[in-house]
Amino acid sequence: MTIEDEINRLRRTYGDLNGQDLLAAMRREFPCSLAVISSFGAEAAVLLDLVARVDRTIPVIFLDTGELFDETLAYREQLTESLELSDVRVSRPDPLDARRAEELWRTDPDACCRFRKVLPLERAMTGFQAMVDGRKQFHGGDRQALRTIEMGLDGVVKISPLARWSEEDIETAFEARHLPRHPLRALGYRSIGCWPCSRPIGADEPIRAGRWAGSAKTECGIHRVNKQ
Ligand code: SF4
Repeated sequence: MTIEDEINRLRRTYGDLNGQDLLAAMRREFPCSLAVISSFGAEAAVLLDLVARVDRTIPVIFLDTGELFDETLAYREQLTESLELSDVRVSRPDPLDARRAEELWRTDPDACCRFRKVLPLERAMTGFQAMVDGRKQFHGGDRQALRTIEMGLDGVVKISPLARWSEEDIETAFEARHLPRHPLRALGYRSIGCWPCSRPIGADEPIRAGRWAGSAKTECGIHRVNKQ
């Protein structure tokens, strides 16, 4: 079966599911080859709470780019402990790539993201067939067309259980599950990545306006998919 056939089969079988039901179904489909990627950012707690409810042993990949906020690293510790996630894997750039990427965010952010995110994720995903992420349609841009099951350009099945969730759904989950907030939320950060490429936003700005602000860049490159 080609990966296109596999994507079509998964969509026919699970296309109506989302949230915890979809995550649980994918855990059954890929019992030993499903991983979650999390930035431990502003809304990450909602997806990680679903992971904790389905199976705390699902591997969670965290990309430590070397340019993260200290608050994000502390939040990772807090969430890992409070949700009792037992397999959080930290992936970092290899030392040579880290040296190549020094200050690169100023001059070539696409190359910086490749060294600090794309390549470490490729290494971390070795042996995994499917990757769960927390992307949502309401974040706008290319994500408005996001489907819950997509085919990654890297040949990995991409699962987005929160794709169809609204901002209100996310807030409701935070309240209902008493989930802790990322410390930078209180300072106006709504989408949180590396410190050089994230800023707080105003009330009337799109939720991802603070990412690579002032440039045309909107994505880091780890979520590239085949349009079907
Ligand atoms: S988000 Fe910015 S600092 Fe982080 S890897 Fe991409 S360009 Fe570099």
